[in-house]
Amino acid sequence: MPEDYYDVLGVPRTASQDDIKRAYREIALKFHPDRNPSKSAEEKFKKANEAYAVLSDPEKRKQYDTFGPEGFNQRFTQEDIFRNFNIEDVLRQMGIDFGFSPFGNNDLFGNIFGFQQKGGNRGDIGNDILARVDVSLYDAAHGVDKEIYVRHVVRCNTCKGTGAEPGSRIVVCSKCGGKGQVSTTRRSPFGIMQTISTCPACNGEGKTPSKRCRACGGTGKSQTENKIKVSIPKGVDTGTRLRVRGMGDYGRDRQGDLYVDVNVMKDRQFIREGTTIYANVHVPFYVAALGGQITVPTLYGDKEETISEGTQSGSTITLKGQGMPRLNATGTGDEIATIVVDVPKHLSKEQREHLEKLAELDGSKKKKFGIF
Ligand SMILES: [Zn+2]
Ligand SMILES: [Zn+2]
Repeated sequence: MPEDYYDVLGVPRTASQDDIKRAYREIALKFHPDRNPSKSAEEKFKKANEAYAVLSDPEKRKQYDTFGPEGFNQRFTQEDIFRNFNIEDVLRQMGIDFGFSPFGNNDLFGNIFGFQQKGGNRGDIGNDILARVDVSLYDAAHGVDKEIYVRHVVRCNTCKGTGAEPGSRIVVCSKCGGKGQVSTTRRSPFGIMQTISTCPACNGEGKTPSKRCRACGGTGKSQTENKIKVSIPKGVDTGTRLRVRGMGDYGRDRQGDLYVDVNVMKDRQFIREGTTIYANVHVPFYVAALGGQITVPTLYGDKEETISEGTQSGSTITLKGQGMPRLNATGTGDEIATIVVDVPKHLSKEQREHLEKLAELDGSKKKKFGIF
């Protein structure tokens, strides 16, 4: 048994259009996935959308009241229910516009990419598209402008998007007679159902060219590959999603957006963990033993550091502010350099003599302690 739409919105069957609107708005504010990311909230929101799509439309509501939840459910498809109902427009008219955020979860109606809502009067909206870009750790630390190749739908150059062959006349659409809408009637055991939809021949314009543009076949659009500049802000990490407004697919009424997923490549020298950078510094054993100046590589160039006498392999030095910058925020992490004490693999004659002396010195001490 399908849930009763009146119960879903929490209004009586006698509720006015204003009551219904108010009730739906309240639910939308509370359970919109941008506000409330839980699965149960999403379910509630979806149910409320369906209930509102029906009860806000006097014609659909009449049918619902006549047939009841079960009867209505058997007679009407989801497509029927959401026909001429555009959720984004509805929310916007109610003053609820969460917008798309590049880092948010927006799969309210399935995937945002390639998604275009059918029906309604929202016009011709270009699809959002997704691309990927590889950046080095160095570029991720400093920020960089990248050019990426994107294949997307653009406005047809020949007809400037009108779909008309240059020089052709614009005439009244023969399919809809200029109304921009066509109605189809469907016979069902319960009477004749009429649905009005946007004229497919003229896209609701009411006018068509006398001759279609040969370059695009009258669609006003073509596919092409473009080089698009993407500003990579410093601090990005693998999984960061950037949005480039208006660089998705072309749409007559609104251009889609381009989303770029960043992949920060592995570095040979540095390991990144959040805003902390790890690196190894090789130090000759005599420097470690005596103490002194060492050179530590960072993402911002080599830095001179001092180590104390008797520094052990595996000990660390922290270089404040030499790590990764925070994305879209102030502050930079640290670099932690680990000392690796190098023992020479080959010795010159002189080095060998000195070391043997050192060993003797050490050995004689041992002998001394050994005897007593
Ligand atoms: Zn064209
Ligand atoms: Zn038409």
